[in-house]
Amino acid sequence: MSRIRGIEAKVKKEILHSAKNKNGPNTACEKDDVEKDQVKELLAKIPVLAKTFDIHRKIGEGTFSSVYLGSMRQDAGVPEGDKRWFALKHLVPTTHPTRVAHELRCLRDIGGKSHVIGVELCLRNLDHVVFIMPYIPHQKFSEYVGDMDANELRQYMRALLTALRHVHTFGVIHRDVKPSNFLYDRERRRYALVDFGLAQHTAAPAQPPPAHQALKRTRDDDSLFPGAKRMALDLCVRRAARSPAPAPAPRGCACAGAGGVCGECAVWAPPRANRAGTQGFRPPEVFFKYPQQSTAVDMWAAGVVLASVLSGRYPFFRATDDLAALAEITELLGTEALQRTAQALGNYTPQHITHSVSCRLLTSTCRRGLCLRKLSAQLRGAAPAHDARACAKCSRRHARCLCRDDTPAHAHDPLRSVCGFPDAAFALAARLLEPDPRARITAADALRHPFLAQPL
Ligand code: ADP
Ligand code: MG
Ligand code: ZN
Repeated sequence: MSRIRGIEAKVKKEILHSAKNKNGPNTACEKDDVEKDQVKELLAKIPVLAKTFDIHRKIGEGTFSSVYLGSMRQDAGVPEGDKRWFALKHLVPTTHPTRVAHELRCLRDIGGKSHVIGVELCLRNLDHVVFIMPYIPHQKFSEYVGDMDANELRQYMRALLTALRHVHTFGVIHRDVKPSNFLYDRERRRYALVDFGLAQHTAAPAQPPPAHQALKRTRDDDSLFPGAKRMALDLCVRRAARSPAPAPAPRGCACAGAGGVCGECAVWAPPRANRAGTQGFRPPEVFFKYPQQSTAVDMWAAGVVLASVLSGRYPFFRATDDLAALAEITELLGTEALQRTAQALGNYTPQHITHSVSCRLLTSTCRRGLCLRKLSAQLRGAAPAHDARACAKCSRRHARCLCRDDTPAHAHDPLRSVCGFPDAAFALAARLLEPDPRARITAADALRHPFLAQPL
């Protein structure tokens, strides 16, 4: 079936379906019917699949794929518990071939060890591609985020950082680290980092191709976060090569903050930088359009996951657009830290550009930053200490104050804990949520951090 006809068929089906029920399948029965149709459709698109696999049901849906549970036809008579189970990821047929090849190469070269999912087989028919991977039973993050204790969190973070350390040794940035891409089988304590759909090689050109594609997530864990967006890059190299070279940045211009844009600035092509990832997990350097992004992008996202568990709040950052996202980060880390980072990241001279660029963060108010320890205690509903005195910084009673302490957030007191989590866990979160990517802790160093190095 051609791509166009495939899309038409999908649209027709959706129209028929929405006529039947405006709000989508409500009953389990209707949902079953829709999924059975989708399985049939998949088998029709890649007929060779049916020769080897039985496809049982749909188990996941991301922005760029549908994932099904399958088993080998030759195992049909084998008891359920002894069957080999597979996850079959069917990529949307509009995925760029370069992107498909890149995802497959990552799975093949990096996966299969250190808590990174591997690939057993890849099947293609025309523009339909399926990756066949080992199936990892897993729960939704929202079901255990408020329920993990310090030991479970330590194991979970060790597994995530082990996976990231492994990926990063290949010079690859995953770019979409988040709970729905880090599968956790709580019963067997198995973990798997999945989804290399946005992965980028650190050696890849800093300037992304111009065309982006933005689609809304629909049914996976991210549906909790209606604004969650995942950006994909069109990897079409020819288009990138056609894009005009950026005009030199104006030097010594004083229009910043003056309530207007001067003519020189108006014609300046702003820097382009990779912004692939999911809202709520993007680090400051993405918003500052820093072109030399590194594996530190993933470390920030791991910090957001850690902060989510410590505070029992998911999603941790809820902003739906870039400015609001930057405001949320500023609220947490303080205006000064973000301004310092913006300036530091702006002061570089890329090799291929002869001028230096500068970046300034201007805000209408100045935020002091919040203490993640106090915030977590408050969000988890811990009984506040009876202290009627007022905080000198925010003038709230100490029991309600969220101001950062004067001691650095990354220092820790081995005798202190907050809601059952050792102080070292908060210290690690501060090292991961470091605004400057060049100072952010690496996966290898995070695994040596006192919180994770401690025996279970
Ligand atoms: P997308 O690129 O569309 O986000 P993913 O690779 O993240 O696709 O897969 C979407 C969802 O499918 C995951 O969040 C997960 O729930 C499920 N899934 C993916 N791979 C596996 C697997 N190997 N085992 C079990 N479930 C999986
Ligand atoms: Mg995904
Ligand atoms: Zn205060």
